[in-house]
Amino acid sequence: MAAVDVIVMGAAGRMGSTIARLAGEDSELNLVAVVERAGMENKVSGLDCEVSSDLPGVLSRHAKAVVVDFTAPEATVNTAGAAAESGNPMVIGTTGLSAEQQGVLAESAAKTPMLWAPNMSVGINVLLQVLPRLVEMLGPAYDLELSEIHHKHKKDAPSGTAVKLAQCLAEARGWEYDAVKRYCREGIIGARKPDELGVQTLRGGDVVGEHTVFFLGPGERIEVTHRAHSRETFAQGALRAAKWVAGQAPGRLYSIADMF
Ligand code: NAD
Repeated sequence: MAAVDVIVMGAAGRMGSTIARLAGEDSELNLVAVVERAGMENKVSGLDCEVSSDLPGVLSRHAKAVVVDFTAPEATVNTAGAAAESGNPMVIGTTGLSAEQQGVLAESAAKTPMLWAPNMSVGINVLLQVLPRLVEMLGPAYDLELSEIHHKHKKDAPSGTAVKLAQCLAEARGWEYDAVKRYCREGIIGARKPDELGVQTLRGGDVVGEHTVFFLGPGERIEVTHRAHSRETFAQGALRAAKWVAGQAPGRLYSIADMF
């Protein structure tokens, strides 16, 4: 099978640099270009490919290449619009997108194959499959809470993964997520209501990503923790998704569950 051409956005960033390096080492992929913000190109090093800040130019030269984007919400939305116009497939790992920005991704996915996942690791995506079963088996006597820890440079909170896990828990309980989520508790808050879902954020150091789901019951509790040891686990998931999305048709915004 021919190698899949890949363009990596934000290649000076923590994720972008990891993805670009691993793409360059993968015999099933061909890293054709990386794109950074104007003025940031000289922060990209050690790659044997075109380095540019001219996304339209890069897309026009590499018509079928899959664009892998782990940057920032506004940049990702712009890139998705450009990829939809040029027909380049796209894998998106950026988190912190507003509902409106997610809507733009869905519109772009109608024109070109596109996958978006707030967490590309196998572990988190398997957890998303098993959490509903735990919620169902434990029943309503077990309160649901979630905590997450990330490095001090992370811009969005709670993490996209925490939101995805919490939405999965809420759906399993038959709750509307926005009505039950509690991102902050302070002051005389009174007793916890049964239909609440606390999501708490910790930030500091160089933590790659840690999420714990708590099932707090009478006389006992279960804690399920996922710890990402390295950014490579997300990068490898993104590159696997790039190979997969290259063979898909446009229509709707794909998730990792579709790929599994
Ligand atoms: P970072 O700040 O280290 O890197 C972002 C890079 O994007 C920077 O180099 C920046 O210059 C570049 N950039 C911004 N706008 C751009 C544009 N218009 N064109 C080209 N490049 C542009 O951030 P990070 O830690 O690498 O995280 C990036 C995103 O990925 C965040 O939203 C983070 O939450 C998310 N993330 C997702 C996963 C996942 O598995 N889905 C895992 C880790 C991080």
